[in-house]
Amino acid sequence: MQQLGKANSANIETWLETINTYNSTPEFGTTRVLFTEPEVGARNYVKGEMKKLGMTIHEDAIGNIFGVYPGTDATLPPVWTGSHIDTVLNAGMFDGMSGVVAGLEAVRLIRESGISLRRSLVVVVYTSEEPTRFKLGCLGSRALAGKLDAAEAATLHDAAGKSLYEVLEQLGFPVQDFDLVKKKPGDVFAAVELHIDQTGVLERAGKTVGIVKTICAPTVLEVEVIGRQSHAGGTSMEERRDAYMAACELALVLENLGRHSDSEYTTVTVGKVEVIPNAVNVIPGKVVFSVDIRDCDYDKKNELVMKFRQAVSKVESERGVAVTIKMVNNDHPMGCSPKITQLIEKNCCQQDVPYMYTISGAFHDSMLVGDFAPVAMIFVPSHDGISHSPQEWTDFDDLAAGTDVLTGTLVALANA
Ligand SMILES: [Zn+2]
Repeated sequence: MQQLGKANSANIETWLETINTYNSTPEFGTTRVLFTEPEVGARNYVKGEMKKLGMTIHEDAIGNIFGVYPGTDATLPPVWTGSHIDTVLNAGMFDGMSGVVAGLEAVRLIRESGISLRRSLVVVVYTSEEPTRFKLGCLGSRALAGKLDAAEAATLHDAAGKSLYEVLEQLGFPVQDFDLVKKKPGDVFAAVELHIDQTGVLERAGKTVGIVKTICAPTVLEVEVIGRQSHAGGTSMEERRDAYMAACELALVLENLGRHSDSEYTTVTVGKVEVIPNAVNVIPGKVVFSVDIRDCDYDKKNELVMKFRQAVSKVESERGVAVTIKMVNNDHPMGCSPKITQLIEKNCCQQDVPYMYTISGAFHDSMLVGDFAPVAMIFVPSHDGISHSPQEWTDFDDLAAGTDVLTGTLVALANA
């Protein structure tokens, strides 16, 4: 019986470092924004490496890249692996790219072992997981999930005013086939994404692999507080209806709800605050702030939002302000497929790789792919959990160990 070899950390390093040369800010970290020159360069480099590994390549209307390593039965739905190669501004070299490179190494190992696969194995590079250019993330996987069509692509604009649709058309993507991007359940047998851990939990626990149980999903609110704008000196403490102080109280209520949530993983963030008129000697009459709530449990997340709304009513009556809450989105967390996570666990045990079950607080393309296929994620440790930073670092040996677990899992899925 043919045996899989071991992933080569030097290969992984070379691929990552070469992708990292496609960078518009070499003086500080890595910046590779969707369809800029470095990003297109990196796409071409990855496609070239896929070809060398005997894969056939196609791209869809939104620019997702599919490198297909053919199985023996073309009628069977394929197995997918992959991630993204675009970055935020001044990022590191591992977030996203690790999953693509692990997919390439998996194909190399399978090819060299002589093991044949029944199902095709597809390495996917999802278009723009990061929201850097069009202010919306997961563009490629969103379109695959049927949540972004041609009409919406025409409404997304970058800072220069160009629409996503326009950019795709100019680059020669088959925009006339936009309707064909969407996948339906059954089209893909299973999808497994390797990604760096962005919390530091694996490093703290001394584990090489994290098996993701659930990918948390965000709820985003826009909260507007209307008070009464008046003179900072002329309005007594009793008389004032300070929109900013009311907003602060609400932010603290929210923090408290997040801290005391009985869900397995909850985060709450007020990241954007607009104070009007924003002057030293004027009591703010209006404040608009954002609320980002992440949870791995949809019902608990909704319960937290309900408690926040109750607190809002209390603050309104106590402080004489009027608050309106707009729900921008309320996404469902994605449970990973127990069948796949058990396979990953089996591979960790067989390969003596220390592992733990974990939760992804950040969302990934897998969250959207989960709309039409069973998904799972393999996390590898990142130093201090730092990501979206030039300091982002994952040891190549850990990446190789994660790749071995990924490869074993992909082979089992492709022959299932
Ligand atoms: Zn990522």
